[in-house]
Amino acid sequence: MSKPDKQLEEFERRLTGEDLGSTEAEPERGSWFKRKNKGITTATSEKRETPDGLWVMCSSCKFTCTAIELREKLYVCPNCGYHHRIGSDEYFDILFDEREYTRLFDNIRSKDFLGFTDLKPYKKRLEETWSKTDLKDSMSVAHGKVNGFDLVIACMDFEFIGGSLGSVMGEKICRAADYSLEHRIPFMIISKSGGARMMESAFSLMQLPKTLGRLSLLSDAGIPYISLCTDPTFGGTTASFSMLGDVIIAEPNALIGFAGPRVIKETIKKDLPKGFQRSEFLLDHGFLDFIVDRRELKQKLGQLLDLFKH
Ligand SMILES: [Zn+2]
Repeated sequence: MSKPDKQLEEFERRLTGEDLGSTEAEPERGSWFKRKNKGITTATSEKRETPDGLWVMCSSCKFTCTAIELREKLYVCPNCGYHHRIGSDEYFDILFDEREYTRLFDNIRSKDFLGFTDLKPYKKRLEETWSKTDLKDSMSVAHGKVNGFDLVIACMDFEFIGGSLGSVMGEKICRAADYSLEHRIPFMIISKSGGARMMESAFSLMQLPKTLGRLSLLSDAGIPYISLCTDPTFGGTTASFSMLGDVIIAEPNALIGFAGPRVIKETIKKDLPKGFQRSEFLLDHGFLDFIVDRRELKQKLGQLLDLFKH
């Protein structure tokens, strides 16, 4: 075969996607692309981060940027400052120095002890959520340093059944508070929840007095507890630990309340004021100490922890 003929043949083989030197049968004529590996081979645990090439649109101003750009901006829209909802992994990465931290109490799992069924059995719902996410439950706890100061952070994940407050979240808060007490480290809860986990009924509601009892031990021991409310903070969380911090802070424009605006409007039969239940409204009415932009969160926390220490 002459050199130009060979080049032409190689060109043809490349066009049809056939690997040079492959021993596989010739592909059908006209097949332009060929899958090198069969099926999806990425393990779920490795798929945590959004692919870098993906475009993300801001739900507030429709500004579009790449996922990698958004991550660099700490998931805050570069155009309008809208705070995208993020999970515990992202908060831990943003807040802890050098992204180094130790995860705590990751072995506790929810159980369907009531045999509860809504649209589907609770057991099935749990199994589906475990397989869809790499989360163990709606709260993760970690210990690390923020601007050089030790901090234990318990952060909710909305992705896991709406960040609902169930017996696992309650138990994790208690254990995290015990850990803070034992090591004399300030404690922070990042709330992002729709409220109590209905599938656990009274067991969910029992978590309210249980966690509050533990947090009061921190207070007695003079260990600071910071509450950060993010979008959304609702129901049982607002009715308990989220509103009881030594310092209560919130991200901008976060929806924070007990019952939703629609329910309140239908109950009181009156129009609600503009900006009702948003962080800015709550700050004006004395529910919050301050609002912090996520891009300044780490620095502000560092200042707070420094103040507490001295
Ligand atoms: Zn935007």
